[in-house]
Amino acid sequence: MWSCAIQGCGAGAEHVEDLLVHQATDHERVQCAVCGTLLPDGYFAIRHAFEEHSRAEYVRAYDADAEDIRRRESLIEDIESAANIEEVVSRIDEGDSEPASSHA
Ligand SMILES: [Zn+2]
Ligand SMILES: [Zn+2]
Repeated sequence: MWSCAIQGCGAGAEHVEDLLVHQATDHERVQCAVCGTLLPDGYFAIRHAFEEHSRAEYVRAYDADAEDIRRRESLIEDIESAANIEEVVSRIDEGDSEPASSHA
């Protein structure tokens, strides 16, 4: 069971893909604090920040500390080892927020 870590949400999903689609479609987009790009909340926003910007930029813009960075890095590793990111991206493009199990 995966649960949405976005503040005030707490939605659960059986598959990590469902959780990522939920974060991208059911939540408002968030603006990157470093460059201002609009991003799906949750995993994609964190991945953007870590891939596009240095850790130093992230710390400055988000007032984060080393512990915040470690937590987010391990979250991304957990998600990427469990999720089919291409499936998630294509489901977001199609606007599909239904759980994968409903298509079976
Ligand atoms: Zn949520
Ligand atoms: Zn950015």
